Amino acid sequence: MRPLVATVDLTALRHNYLLARQCAPQRKAFAVVKANAYGHGAHEVVTALRDVADGFAVACLEEAEVVRASAPDARILLLEGCFEPCEYRRAAELSLDVAVQDLRQTDWLLDAELERPLNVWMKLDSGMHRLGFTVDGLRDCHARLKGAAQVGELNLISHFACADERGHSLNESQLEFYGQLLELAFDNCSLANSAAVLTLPQAHMAWIRPGIMLYGATPFATLSAQELGLKPVMTLTGALIAIRDVPVGDSVGYGASWVAQRPSRIGTVSCGYADGYPRSAPSGTSVVIRGQRVPLAGRVSMDMLAVDLTDLPQAQLGDAVELWGAQVPIDELATACGTIGYELLTKVTGRVPRRYL
Ligand code: PLP
Repeated sequence: MRPLVATVDLTALRHNYLLARQCAPQRKAFAVVKANAYGHGAHEVVTALRDVADGFAVACLEEAEVVRASAPDARILLLEGCFEPCEYRRAAELSLDVAVQDLRQTDWLLDAELERPLNVWMKLDSGMHRLGFTVDGLRDCHARLKGAAQVGELNLISHFACADERGHSLNESQLEFYGQLLELAFDNCSLANSAAVLTLPQAHMAWIRPGIMLYGATPFATLSAQELGLKPVMTLTGALIAIRDVPVGDSVGYGASWVAQRPSRIGTVSCGYADGYPRSAPSGTSVVIRGQRVPLAGRVSMDMLAVDLTDLPQAQLGDAVELWGAQVPIDELATACGTIGYELLTKVTGRVPRRYL
């Protein structure tokens, strides 16, 4: 077997979920498991959390099907609602909670013949300007849905644009929009993503919706996962599959972008951008072998990458190479590549086997 594996630590995942709940005592928490649980495997993540989690949140019906099969009794929220009228029937069969974010979805819901009422989360566009009603639009939606046979609970949901930036003016203004709707007396309200769970207690409301923090990555540019008490969940580990000596002046890899400045020992690692390791990782980015950091040398290829082993003479063929995990925080790699941990985690491709601890 090709030596590359994504090891997923389910005990760390549970630790992170419980930490999210501790940040918002007495509130309930939807574990956000969309995008195959941020690349970790939705079935395994849901199975690991189902006895502690109050519910799960997904982006679409297809994802909800997977979660329902793994957690028959869990509350499951469809964050973007239904994309076609026929989906409401299936949503009711699966006992989902659904977001309703515009007039079209409201009409579809009111036209649907359902075997049981759905708990509805009316989405407020409080400033993100992506999905949701204006304050007035939401009042109208509320008036139409209240008492409808298709509707169980009538809840409010909104999403922060800048909760990861403490003190950003949008955070306060988004909360003010919510304040304008209090007279509607919703059954429940949910506003907080991970960043708001961690730093905006006034946004906790009845249900929080942590995503990235469950997977041990930070939503913040300036606060590390470790500082937040989060434990890394995924470790991506390859191996040294070739080692060679490269003389001064010779180059390594595509584009000959890395040139040996000293007699060098170059290792080839079994991981490339087709596995989800970012091609944008610059020379010098760290991986860890035998507990020691070594730098990338040259461009990342589709199936391999090269590292400079000159300062680690004891490295041998077959040695494990941590590409990210406890020793190379995913957020550090993401920053070096001009992206965020979310993107790296969700881009680990299907050919990388997941192993669960
Ligand atoms: N709620 C909604 C509507 C989302 O789209 C997301 C993620 O994008 C989350 C919650 C979880 O956010 P985070 O992963 O930043 O905690």
